[in-house]
Amino acid sequence: MSLDARVGDAGRGRGHAVVIGSGLAGLTAARALANSMDRVTVIERDHPAPGTARRRGVPQARHTHSLTTTAQQGLEQLFPGIAQDLTRAGAVRVRMPQDLLLLGPQGWLPRFDSGLSMLSAGRDLIDAVVRARLAADARVRFLSGHDVVGLHPDRHDTVTGVWVRPRDRQSDDGWGPRHLIPADFVVDASGRHSRAPHWLAELGYEPPRQSTARARSTYVSTLYAPPVGHVADWQALLLMASPDNPRQGILNPVEGGRWSLTLCSAADEPAPTDHAGLLRAARALRHPLLHDVIEAATPLGPLYTCHRTENRWRHYEKLRRWPDQFLVTGDALALLDPAHGQGMTQAIQGALVLDQVLAGHGTTVGLGYRLRRALAHQLAPAWQSSTRHLRTTGADPAAPTGLRARLARRYTARIAAAAATDPHAATQLVARLQAAGPLAGVPRPRPPLPAAPGPAAPPSRTHGPHARPRRTAPAAPAIGVATGSAALQATGSSAAWPAPAPAGERRRP
Ligand SMILES: Cc1cc2nc3c(=O)[nH]c(=O)nc-3n(C[C@H](O)[C@H](O)[C@H](O)COP(=O)(O)OP(=O)(O)OC[C@H]3O[C@@H](n4cnc5c(N)ncnc54)[C@H](O)[C@@H]3O)c2cc1C
Repeated sequence: MSLDARVGDAGRGRGHAVVIGSGLAGLTAARALANSMDRVTVIERDHPAPGTARRRGVPQARHTHSLTTTAQQGLEQLFPGIAQDLTRAGAVRVRMPQDLLLLGPQGWLPRFDSGLSMLSAGRDLIDAVVRARLAADARVRFLSGHDVVGLHPDRHDTVTGVWVRPRDRQSDDGWGPRHLIPADFVVDASGRHSRAPHWLAELGYEPPRQSTARARSTYVSTLYAPPVGHVADWQALLLMASPDNPRQGILNPVEGGRWSLTLCSAADEPAPTDHAGLLRAARALRHPLLHDVIEAATPLGPLYTCHRTENRWRHYEKLRRWPDQFLVTGDALALLDPAHGQGMTQAIQGALVLDQVLAGHGTTVGLGYRLRRALAHQLAPAWQSSTRHLRTTGADPAAPTGLRARLARRYTARIAAAAATDPHAATQLVARLQAAGPLAGVPRPRPPLPAAPGPAAPPSRTHGPHARPRRTAPAAPAIGVATGSAALQATGSSAAWPAPAPAGERRRP
């Protein structure tokens, strides 16, 4: 049932909710709250410029972002029809692995339509489309240019509002005097720099224990205009890390006919600082294809670097004392290594959990405990897959141990090994990348095949600026039909990438 269909149920009409932060976690949480509360106010420190302009509060927006299949399904539940809004605004649907040249840990994946896809777009565009949908809801209002600086407590372990200070250019510190915004329910979705532990400590609560697992890699991203005349039978390119080469590279199509590139360095490796260095780093990936493609493309701006790639989970679900009408979600609750591209998926899933719990229990006493437990339960699998190969410090109740962990690792390795030649295994690998979990109805991969002898030629011969388009593309093999080399040769669609032709230049057919 779509959430819109439930509006008007008994769950509505329970006062005023405040959401701190208008990133994806805040926007989706606000949508969920609007189903159960009279009014929702989204408080944002930035002044979001109209349209898709950059915001200081979301610096990671400069890096490649895509919505997994699971994220799209969740967004669609919250905002029916939003996938269409996104594609109309310029987001590009990339069928997986049909439109994606994917070098998995053991070789290139065969190309076929698994029914899974990612939506690739600039992060600012994704947020802008979601914000526009939320703004159309009369129960929701936005309060921009206001910094939340603390929680307002009540006597019985609840919060009854937040303290904010408005931006004020005239004042010495750039902020005006603080004032209280009363609220019956408060959600902190203020991202990785959330000050919730500090706010709780101010009210006499214990700080949460936290688990961390550092990936120690660096992300460097930039935008490109594809080379004039570029024609390819793929839309996106992903070179995953392998035990021999931990570097990873992704090239995604984004709005405006551009490419968004992100390279992930090996642990503690210095990150490139200019475009020449970026090309050298691309050459160090497991296959030269990505390097060759961007060498002929035109950089559209500077490089942006992100060093903070740690996994961090603040275990609010473990705290005994807690202000009941308060919740922490999104990156404020748990940061996941961007290599897995799960952050937005988790933010959206968190909103769905919030919606379900509110629909079932309303804002009754004990809600905070239920919500914290439910969010932790939903987060645990993503945390495990993000940290499985890293050393975790601190409390990590979700970390699989012993036989279970060994079996999970062995099964993942088995899927990775078989994915290069077996479409069933390739589908499972893509499903994991898409946060969809193991797919029902898709047979489990057969016993592992011998490891591929290093990455051979990709299942595409029509890449590069001077390549000619294929006249006829072989039909995509159905799952279960193509195996072995037949699958490797399958190319899926022959979609040509629409490169923007600079003024005065003609694109080759
Ligand atoms: C390099 C990189 C690549 C990534 N790629 C992907 C990807 O492909 N797919 C994916 O799903 N995820 C990806 N992520 C993760 C994703 O960016 C985050 O998980 C996601 O942004 C979390 O959303 P959020 O709403 O919790 O936080 P944010 O998006 O950071 O939003 C927090 C908001 O709160 C506001 N705020 C902060 N403090 C206050 C305050 N005191 N008062 C009022 N407002 C406040 C900020 O201004 C901001 O608008 C990537 C991350 C990185 C670093």
